Parts: sequence; structure tokens; C-alpha cells
Amino acid sequence: MASLRILVAEDDGPIRELIVHHLVRDGFFPIEAADGSTALRIARDGADLILLDIGLPGIDGLDIARTLRREGRDTPLLMLTARTDEVDRVVGLELGADDYIVKPFSPREVVARVRAVLRRTGLKHDRGPQLLHFGRLEIDEAAREVRVDGVDIGLKPREYQLLRALADNVGVAMSREALLQRVWGYDFDGDERTVDVHVRRLRQKLVERHGLSECFQTLHGYGYKFTAV
Ligand code: CA
Repeated sequence: MASLRILVAEDDGPIRELIVHHLVRDGFFPIEAADGSTALRIARDGADLILLDIGLPGIDGLDIARTLRREGRDTPLLMLTARTDEVDRVVGLELGADDYIVKPFSPREVVARVRAVLRRTGLKHDRGPQLLHFGRLEIDEAAREVRVDGVDIGLKPREYQLLRALADNVGVAMSREALLQRVWGYDFDGDERTVDVHVRRLRQKLVERHGLSECFQTLHGYGYKFTAV
């Protein structure tokens, strides 16, 4: 079946690209709009779901939502709002938005919320088992395996989750704090050096033992960035 068309209306280029990247990876077909009138035009052409930033140049997200609903279009709408704009959120929901996501968000969260809205609205999105490829490195979400040249290298659960968190965000600087929350959870009150220890183990297994080129860039005083192998 054809991929579902997701309109990504967001004027912040890096945020838009990050969302698009993750939607593509998840088998969706994103269409990008960086301003309000482009977004409205694409929405009228037909999209299966709209990710709609409220603060858009030209026509803002709330006006787009209002216009679409007035025209009788019931395309699922997920509003993207800044943390402080509580009024916008309420208005957005009153205008018929299906959900909203508060910035800053992780791209994985956006994809999860897109899926949830699609489920609720009964749209089917068939997504096969997820497989990430980086040269000789393969991360298999279904099997929870990390393979080099096709052979499982036996990562421990935390190592797997950490690699997964980094590889999901190729080229994106991830703070130690963000990684801790993603991998160890919000309640974890351990040291941020836990992250360093686990990155060191990943380096040993992937780079030293299996000869992959260095794929973990250390960002001093901040965290790490996964670069393509
Ligand atoms: Ca904006």
C-alpha cells in the first residue's frame, strides 16, 4: 500500500528536517511547507495527516486549522506549540486539532504521536520491522540485535538502547542529560558519567573489536553525536 502523506508545516528548517527524516524512516511520505499559505495549499490538495506549527509565517497554524475545518475538511491535525502557548493549545483543540505536541520534542515522540492519532482515526499505517543500516553496521529493532557484517555482536540492553538513541538521531548533538532520560528514564538519579561509561563500551565493541570507523563524536562538556559509520 502507498505511504501515508504527512504534511509537515513548520518554518524552523532544522526542526522540519528532523521530523521529515524520522517520518521517512518510518515509511511515511512527508510533504514539507515552511509557510502558512503553502501549508494551506498542500492541505487542500489532500494529506492524510497534518503536523501544524502554530507560529507559521503568512497564515498562522490556528487560522489554517480554522479554515480547513470551516471548509469541512477533517484531516487529522497535530498542532506543534511552544511550551508557553497554553491558550494556543486550548484554542487549537477547540478548533478540532486531534492532539498537540509541546516544543521541544524528540522526533521519536512526534512519530509516536502521529501513529497514535492515525490509530485513533482508523488510518492504517503498515510499518515493517525497523532496520537501520550504517555501512557494515545494522541495528535490527525487531530482533533487538546489532550486527556487524551480519553477525550479532551481543550488546547488553543498555548499550543497545544507547546506540539506538544515538543512531536514531544521526548527526544530532545529544546531551548527556537527554541520553540519560532516553535510555535510563526520567527517574534515574545516577551520574551523567554513566553515559560516558556506556559510550566507551560501545566504542570498544564496535570500533576496537570490530574495526568500524569511529562513529561516536564526543562533544566536550555536552554529550555525543552519532556520525555515519
Ligand atoms: Ca514557527
